Amino acid sequence: MRKKIIIANWKMNHDFHETSFFLRNFLKIIFEKKINHNKEIIIAPSFPFLHISNQISQGTTLKIAAQNIHQMEKGSYTGEVSASMLKSIGITKVILGHSERRELYFENNDILFEKIKIALKYGLNIIFCVGETAIERDQNQQFNIVKNQLKETVFHCSRDEIRFFYIAYEPVWAIGTGKNATYEQAQTMHEFIRSLFLEKYGERVSDKIPILYGGSINNLNARDLFLQKDIDGGLVGNYSLKIDNFLEIIQS
Ligand code: PEP
Repeated sequence: MRKKIIIANWKMNHDFHETSFFLRNFLKIIFEKKINHNKEIIIAPSFPFLHISNQISQGTTLKIAAQNIHQMEKGSYTGEVSASMLKSIGITKVILGHSERRELYFENNDILFEKIKIALKYGLNIIFCVGETAIERDQNQQFNIVKNQLKETVFHCSRDEIRFFYIAYEPVWAIGTGKNATYEQAQTMHEFIRSLFLEKYGERVSDKIPILYGGSINNLNARDLFLQKDIDGGLVGNYSLKIDNFLEIIQS
């Protein structure tokens, strides 16, 4: 049975003080109240606070992820952060392919595959996001879109490399809108994604690959979403920013 996974994507929120306050108190509550969540928990703060976040979470089961990397190894790329820099401060996970990066920073499948290659070179686990826009769903194109997003990126990887991946299905129309996919819509897409992994890599891989749902997860919908057969947890934006809210999701 696959373990449930909850990932907090803080985006460009929480400064140094807010980040340290959240992590210290969150871990204290989990430890002191002995909250038995039995889930893998990952938090993705902003770049400047990755190091302190990793230090605070040392010796606990909480893992820290970055929200992006540059596709090049090193060099004249002002303002960018490389996979090796993350590795040098002990970060082992990175989110790639988030729809905000695809849309606002023009990250297409070619660029994302370059990012995947450099992440794998440095042994980083990749939380890879896929998902269709509202227009694409209206045109009933969601399955083609997601298939193509995987085909042009993740599916270039070998069976061995797939163990580094978490897949996050995030319909763009559900991100930050308060309008989550229904349990049925999400389960149908997750089942489809798993079938693509089955077709490409066989049963062992498709049984194991974690497929998370993301898009307006909150305390009211988390439980039912996580109960679906092919939904292995969630990638959570807004609802991960306050400790109480995030704890509710973890206990869902
Ligand atoms: C996200 O940005 O990955 C996300 C799922 O955001 P929200 O939970 O706010 O919809």
